[in-house]
Amino acid sequence: MERIPILLKILGFLWALPNTIIGFVIGISGLLIDRITKRHKAKIRFAGGICLFERSPAIVQNSALSLGFAHIYAREADEILNGCPCKTHEDQHTIQAMVLGPFFLPIYVLCGLIALCRGGSPIGIKNPLETGPYSLPPRPWWFD
Ligand SMILES: [Zn+2]
Repeated sequence: MERIPILLKILGFLWALPNTIIGFVIGISGLLIDRITKRHKAKIRFAGGICLFERSPAIVQNSALSLGFAHIYAREADEILNGCPCKTHEDQHTIQAMVLGPFFLPIYVLCGLIALCRGGSPIGIKNPLETGPYSLPPRPWWFD
C-alpha cells in the first residue's frame, strides 16, 4: 500500500468507498455488540490509512473480513497466519477493492462460486481473489 502514488490512492479510496461504508457498518456493529454484551474486548485503530476493527464479535470466530478501507478481525490484525501478518493478507483485498470498486463484492461472490465448482472453499485459495493474497509474499492478484 505504501508504494501506491497518493493520487491513485485517493481515486482508489473514492472508488472503494461503497465497500468501505459496508465494512464500517459491520465494524461499528461489532463494537456495539461488544459493549452491549459487556465483552469489552473489541477495539478500533487506524494503520496505513485503513480502519482496523479487532477482536470483533460481528464476524465468524478466527476469520477476517476486508471491505475497502475497513478491516474487521475476529482476533488481532498483526497475528501471523499462513506465514504472514493477517493484515498483510487483508491489505491485498483493499487493493482489489481500489481497482474493482463497487464491483468487488459481486466479483468476489462469483469467484467464490468458481472455487466451489473447483472443489474448494469459496473463501479459500481456489477463489481467484484469494489466490494472490494467500501467496507468499502476498499479492493482490493470482498473476504477477
Ligand atoms: Zn482473503
